Amino acid sequence: MALEQLPPEPTAAMAALRLLHIEADDVDALKLKLTLREQLPADSTVDHVSNLDEGLEVLNSSVYDAVLVGLAAADTRSLDTIKHFTTEVDDTPIIVLSGDTDQRCAVRAGRSGASAFLLKSGLTGAQILGSLRQAMHVHTYDGELPERRKEPRYTLETTAVIYPIEDDGKPGREIAATTADVSESGIVVLADQDTDLVPDICLLGVQCPDSVYRYATVEWRHRRLALPSVRFGGRFLRRTDDPLHVSRLTPRFDTRSLRFKTPMDAAAVQEWVARGILQPVLVDRVKVCPQCEAIPTFRDGCPACGSALTENSKLIHHFACAHIADAAEFAGESVSCPKCRAGNLVVGADFEHLAGTRNCTECEWNDTNLAMIGECLKCGHRFHGQEAIDKDVFEYYVDRLDPLALIDRA
Ligand SMILES: [Zn+2]
Ligand SMILES: [Zn+2]
Ligand SMILES: [Zn+2]
Repeated sequence: MALEQLPPEPTAAMAALRLLHIEADDVDALKLKLTLREQLPADSTVDHVSNLDEGLEVLNSSVYDAVLVGLAAADTRSLDTIKHFTTEVDDTPIIVLSGDTDQRCAVRAGRSGASAFLLKSGLTGAQILGSLRQAMHVHTYDGELPERRKEPRYTLETTAVIYPIEDDGKPGREIAATTADVSESGIVVLADQDTDLVPDICLLGVQCPDSVYRYATVEWRHRRLALPSVRFGGRFLRRTDDPLHVSRLTPRFDTRSLRFKTPMDAAAVQEWVARGILQPVLVDRVKVCPQCEAIPTFRDGCPACGSALTENSKLIHHFACAHIADAAEFAGESVSCPKCRAGNLVVGADFEHLAGTRNCTECEWNDTNLAMIGECLKCGHRFHGQEAIDKDVFEYYVDRLDPLALIDRA
């Protein structure tokens, strides 16, 4: 809870933020925009949507540093939705901006998993920024490592390995390194490497005390010659800019290709898996088109031509003469039996309807059992259900480095 006003801090030290603002009230949305205008770090963006459902949809396809949710008074339904949010939308911090001054609302907001609860009335940009900073565990330093000496750093000498992240998202050639020190927000390593060959964003594997390698995405902010090595100082990337963020490794239904795929390029994913860094976890198995592997729809249809347009023929059983034939043969001015010629037959008394066979209206097929027919939404290919290919859907994990755990044990 951050109900009290936090002291303003310089904003130049913070990286640009990507915020999502969910607010139904257009006036409140505009107010917030004006409140934040001068406060946010340069190049920050605030996207606005007007309801939670829309917000959830946006969060499914984009990564934000934090979400601001405006609530009207006594809006408990939205708090329930936020609870759903905090379980659905991994770790995006949520800050509730409430029009409700009731203390109980703040308590409920806390229970919903929101990182902070602020009152809309009298809201200042500094308050919001303070809450954001707390929620995101943002540490301020002006981009140069010496500034980080203000916060605790711990000497830590252990084996590490740098994996450059290439422009196409694939891992580059591994570079052996040794850690020098670590803080909650960054790490310094030594490597015998031409700095030109080390891109700004790399994955760093650190051998932890249990001898397992754990990984963090690091942005190098500082390279300094420390003969015979180079000292690389970097900050941990936690969200928006992390090419290996969980949101890029979770399969989604891609509406363009009509397949399940991860936002990260499949070839890059395979490369990281081959290096043993991404761990695949089977999350689903879906039936896909045998021709193009896109998602089909399935229906009961004609086993001969695959058409869904089939109909049941109706039979009539004439009790008196025991004749059974297609209902059409009994049709006329009145229902009359084609065999014994009896007319004016009454259903129930003289005859009954029986279910006959199924006919395909698009081909000559006529039998009893329909088949499961798939039709590909992408290429239109029609096929028997059993021809569909079972495709495994994987999610990927990186064994993440927890700098705090490392510090505790260093
Ligand atoms: Zn297909
Ligand atoms: Zn047919
Ligand atoms: Zn008859």
